[in-house]
Amino acid sequence: MTKKLHPQTQAIRARMPETYQKEHSSPMYLTSSFVFDDAESMRAAFADENNDNIYSRYSNPSVDEFANKVALLEKAEAGFAVASGMAAVFSSFMALMKTGDHLLCCRSIFGGTVTVVTKFLDKFGIEYTFVPADDLSVWEKEIKPNTKMVYLETPTNPQLELVDLEEVGKLAKKHNLIYAVDNCFATPFLQTPIDFGADLSIHSATKWMDGQGRVLGGAIAGRKDLIHEIYLFCRNSGPTLSAFNAWVLSKSLETLDVRIQRHCENALKVATALENHPKIEWLKYPFLPSHPQYEIAKKQMKAGGGIVCFEIKGGVEAGRKFMDALELLSLTPNLGDSRSIASHPASTTHSKLSEEDRLKVGITPGLIRISVGLEYADDVIDDIKQALERS
Ligand SMILES: *Cc1c(COP(=O)(O)O)cnc(C)c1O
Repeated sequence: MTKKLHPQTQAIRARMPETYQKEHSSPMYLTSSFVFDDAESMRAAFADENNDNIYSRYSNPSVDEFANKVALLEKAEAGFAVASGMAAVFSSFMALMKTGDHLLCCRSIFGGTVTVVTKFLDKFGIEYTFVPADDLSVWEKEIKPNTKMVYLETPTNPQLELVDLEEVGKLAKKHNLIYAVDNCFATPFLQTPIDFGADLSIHSATKWMDGQGRVLGGAIAGRKDLIHEIYLFCRNSGPTLSAFNAWVLSKSLETLDVRIQRHCENALKVATALENHPKIEWLKYPFLPSHPQYEIAKKQMKAGGGIVCFEIKGGVEAGRKFMDALELLSLTPNLGDSRSIASHPASTTHSKLSEEDRLKVGITPGLIRISVGLEYADDVIDDIKQALERS
């Protein structure tokens, strides 16, 4: 085929070569290793550092199919898949930085990533500086001669802050930094960081990519030379994605475009219906004009994503009551599922912090995060409204 296919088509049609069985749907390769015809072909496979089928810690056709699709969707030169989003983040850091390097890191990032940066990078002598999502003027001032990488997430979890991908791209280029973006919240169908100069787009595939809360997975797409370094790190250190999970995730990518459209439609309906609710102090959604960074959202995203967050009046107590009053929405520490999910960080993920420390990371007492699912939107809205009445 000569015409370049659109990402929507590639998510459905890109696949491993079919086998002699002529199967229509890609098979799952549950095998730990691969056999060789003779000593010479085995020698050649081991001599080649590239992705040959030798042993499934190195490479596996089901895992490669998923990783290659993510690379196509991200418009990246290469892709690699690992066991979880955190494995993707951690292996990117470990493969590309060394003792004495410095990481410029946006302050509003996933909790697990904060821990990796502050507890583990530190342990290996990699320095870091946290910078605020909403003030890029600080970022350039914090760049040092040993700064190796700039890392951010947009939209952020759970506050839905946005970072201007294009502006950070210019900064990274000027100072010759590796530019890595956690693109989990947007997915490649809403935002492709590589178009704005990013070198790596990192994913927790556990969320929207799987989309039904079934399996964990992670992926990294980006510059070929960097992906190769990450591959070599993973092939030897072992954060391998299971073939089963990869098979599930590759199938999931076939429906990601239609799912994400519905997630976004539903989330916009939820946000619009609740924005002026008397029990709500403020509400944030990237594609509502009231979002403080609406212009950035419009510039770099195709739609606002599936997450809505708001501050319920009445603080921690009201937040807990709201959670207890929900009848349809699930109370579970996940997001990006077909089923709508509510979470109240102040009484759960961040309950061990003091109120002062919570505020420092943007966790206000009544903050509620809704991951809007694929249900009929009015049912989700009705459940949230009745729970607000009772909280
Ligand atoms: C969940 C999440 C991660 C971690 O992914 P896991 O698959 O749970 O390891 C990283 N970044 C963001 C933005 C996430 O939401």
